Amino acid sequence: MSRFPTDTPEQAKFRTAVQTFLAENAEPRAESDPWQVSGFSDDNDARAYFEDGRCWQRTLAAHGWAGLTWPVEYGGGGHPVWADRIFREESAHYNSHSGFIGATIAMLGPTLLAHATPELKTRFLPSLLNGEATWCQLFSEPGSGSDLASLNTRAILDGDEWVVDGQKVWNSCAQFADWGFLLARTNPESPKHRGITFLLVDMASPGIEVRPLVQANGSAHFNEVFLSSVRIPSNQVVGDVNGGWSPTRTVLANEAAFIGRGEGPSASDRLRDLATRHGGLENPIVRQRLARIISRERLQNFMGQRIQTAVRNGQSPPFDPALTKVMAARTKVLSGNLAAELTGLAAMASSETEDPEGNWVRAEILNRFAISIGGGTTEVQKNNLAERSLGLPRDPGQNSETAWKDIPRN
Ligand SMILES: Cc1cc2nc3c(=O)[nH]c(=O)nc-3n(C[C@H](O)[C@H](O)[C@H](O)COP(=O)(O)OP(=O)(O)OC[C@H]3O[C@@H](n4cnc5c(N)ncnc54)[C@H](O)[C@@H]3O)c2cc1C
Repeated sequence: MSRFPTDTPEQAKFRTAVQTFLAENAEPRAESDPWQVSGFSDDNDARAYFEDGRCWQRTLAAHGWAGLTWPVEYGGGGHPVWADRIFREESAHYNSHSGFIGATIAMLGPTLLAHATPELKTRFLPSLLNGEATWCQLFSEPGSGSDLASLNTRAILDGDEWVVDGQKVWNSCAQFADWGFLLARTNPESPKHRGITFLLVDMASPGIEVRPLVQANGSAHFNEVFLSSVRIPSNQVVGDVNGGWSPTRTVLANEAAFIGRGEGPSASDRLRDLATRHGGLENPIVRQRLARIISRERLQNFMGQRIQTAVRNGQSPPFDPALTKVMAARTKVLSGNLAAELTGLAAMASSETEDPEGNWVRAEILNRFAISIGGGTTEVQKNNLAERSLGLPRDPGQNSETAWKDIPRN
């Protein structure tokens, strides 16, 4: 009997086609290093990893497997929403993935589909899907992270171009990206949420300087991006001028859902391996902790699928995407703690090249911070849940009705 007895005949046929494609094109998990981590202290390795992601996205697109549920006219497959789920289930046996490019497709794709003009969709969606053009998110600024709507970067219309000046920070993979989706203040007289415009900017434009930020683990995942008199054609606006908060919310909701759902190999598989190697698998407490992590990972995955299904069907998410992200951040803490306890002190002090397992454990511990900050911190996501889902009073001091220019700042 099929491993998936609930598949309809149509789904079973689709699954077989996916299996054939992956068997012919993807790298089997067994042949890859199970302890590989995605943080690189060498910029060439980081770029190679980024380009591997682009290469896999190209392969997907070339064989008709990119954007499975997207409209065919924009390079998608036009499949029903279950196609994504089946593809993900089958891909779990393989190591090939799109890396950061997958994240930008998840954030920007639904945003362009929902808010962009037909011209922008035709121009940008196919190259986003086939990896030809890679993207970075230019949202956060020094002083405007959690309170993103307070951002300072200014754009002034000059003829048929926007002229942008300002600074962004924490921009993942901006040093490799071809394009950026950028938020800029276009009306300082309006309250902060109502004077922002969502722009698409070519990262090769004169006036853009990208400075990588080196982290404690030696890698430079993030960048500062300085914009000095950068000119952007006025037709590269997503949504309305001064109405950029609406597409921004679409990006943030899809980002939270993407982070919460997780991509690539699950930590619980590695934790099971660690428990086997380090003698914890028979320990009932370790087994209980493992079961908790596995259950949470599965739940997060189902929650992500439910959100994705609703969004693809043009409906509102069935629950706030912030919930999956808050849950994923907590799961990361549980898995990092268990990994550290199973492997002990030796894993903390071992060398990166001689002990890939220890290297994975260290990454697992450090990544718990990344996941609880990126895409909105856990504290802020909890505020959002309190206000949006539980109807509790708004966080005081938001200045949401004061003109942006009159809000005190340092
Ligand atoms: C892995 C990762 C990837 C990222 N990638 C990108 C990217 O590609 N593009 C981009 O633009 N940005 C990116 N960011 C930046 C990220 O969006 C911000 O770091 C995040 O929104 C928090 O902003 P901040 O760092 O300015 O912290 P702050 O807003 O200064 O927050 C500092 C602390 O105060 C707390 N806090 C703030 N306000 C409140 C409140 N109202 N109630 C309770 N607590 C509060 C926060 O929870 C936090 O603990 C990334 C960050 C990470 C970690």
